[in-house]
Amino acid sequence: MRSRGILIVVSGFAGTGKGTLMKKLLEYYDTYALSVSATTRAPRPGEEEGVSYFFVSKEKFEDMIERDELLEYACYVGNYYGTPKSYVEEQLEKGKDVILEIEIQGALKIKEKFPDALLLFVVPPSAEELEERLKGRGTETSDVIAKRLSRAAEEAEGIEKYDYIVMNDELERCTEELHGIIRAAHYTPSRKSDFINRLRTELKAFAKGE
Ligand code: ADP
Ligand code: 5GP
Repeated sequence: MRSRGILIVVSGFAGTGKGTLMKKLLEYYDTYALSVSATTRAPRPGEEEGVSYFFVSKEKFEDMIERDELLEYACYVGNYYGTPKSYVEEQLEKGKDVILEIEIQGALKIKEKFPDALLLFVVPPSAEELEERLKGRGTETSDVIAKRLSRAAEEAEGIEKYDYIVMNDELERCTEELHGIIRAAHYTPSRKSDFINRLRTELKAFAKGE
């Protein structure tokens, strides 16, 4: 039987390239499932309902909180963002490694609730490159870009709370690095506890001469 998947959190400043990286990872490997979040922010051009996000009103989001339908949620630059519970649970059970592409407040809540979650932080090569990518994406006003950059400076204070940092300088290399870290994480003793416990039971039985 396939073992349960790992819950993976991927964070990084707006514009670092998380979305682009996640697309590559899912294109190359079928072991991953990407959680689709709910948000109260407006869709950007090209974003699809139920694919990029579930775009909901503030009232609907607060209703989801009330009904305990979210694994975690946070407010980021004036909007709510949250992870619907059911999909994550379903996919982990199927043995998929489930990726939550979420910001730092949500990431820390996940670590608290699920100590075995793997927390990855993607960084840009420099602040200058980050600004260029954000501007180059061309999906936000200069006012929103400034707010996101200022939030990035705050978020940078929390990087040490993550398990690994990965630099997104070259897209393909970074994708492989992320995949390599996740593969390795499957082999830590805490994530192999079912096997270890079975082996212990078997060894005890041998020791008793059964
Ligand atoms: P995020 O999801 O972190 O906000 P995006 O995936 O939307 O970021 O990427 C922001 C912009 O940077 C996009 O225009 C994307 O094409 C570009 N980008 C992503 N990765 C790289 C990279 N390794 N080198 C250069 N540009 C990149
Ligand atoms: P964006 O508006 O650029 O799509 O996302 C803004 C920030 O919200 C990003 O840092 C993104 O990772 C984060 N985010 C997206 N979905 C969620 C979520 O479900 N929960 C939390 N806490 N953050 C999220």
